[in-house]
Amino acid sequence: MGADWTSVAEIGGTPSTRASEGFAERATELQARVHEAHAYLTAGLGTDFDPLVIVADPTDWALGEDEAPPYGIPYATDELELVIPADPTQNFLVDTYAAFGSRESAERFADLIAVHELGHLHVGELRLELPQGWLSEFLATYLACCFLTAHRPEDAALWYTLSRAHAEGFVPEHRSLETLDELYFGVGPDTYIWYQNTLTLMVERVAPDLGLDFALRLRSAGLGSDSDTRTTLAAAESIHPGFEAWAASLRET
Ligand SMILES: [Zn+2]
Repeated sequence: MGADWTSVAEIGGTPSTRASEGFAERATELQARVHEAHAYLTAGLGTDFDPLVIVADPTDWALGEDEAPPYGIPYATDELELVIPADPTQNFLVDTYAAFGSRESAERFADLIAVHELGHLHVGELRLELPQGWLSEFLATYLACCFLTAHRPEDAALWYTLSRAHAEGFVPEHRSLETLDELYFGVGPDTYIWYQNTLTLMVERVAPDLGLDFALRLRSAGLGSDSDTRTTLAAAESIHPGFEAWAASLRET
């Protein structure tokens, strides 16, 4: 059932936003970014809903879900909530990316992940049923990158640059899409981040060709929440050739 965020104070503005104590100003900045991205995706995809943005400190973090991800990894809920970490100094994602770029760029990148989470909400509102796994994560980043490329090209460049640096510089414990689909967050936090960055490198190859059309075309691919990796790969391949060779290359290395 719906989470109880009433202990987290509401700030004004659109979309509706709540912020942990002491983070109202930061929440206003994040709200503006979500607002801009939401307008872009709504217009391009024909979706229509009102997200709730929660900018949470470590204490408020898990109010939204019993099994919330570790503090620092933004998450979206079935209740159309976007939960974003308030404090970049206590964020292990920022620490991770700071090792591959400046601290400032890592903080910026971590904030942009809110747009990826917004992407998940739009996928759900498109009535696109996807299994939890590579395609769902790919598509959320895909939508985020379409927005950034169109409206925030410097942020798109930052996203691609840091993703590539981590994807090529970190040695993961697992590499195949099949394993991501099977274990999901169970691959471990650092390998999970590597998977996200590896997916971004494929987004960078496809998004310039198809833009938001890729997401719209996936709706007629007949996918469901129990589709296996082979089925999701075949669906993506039918829209933009290259996915199956890419997946094979991940298995081999
Ligand atoms: Zn995601």
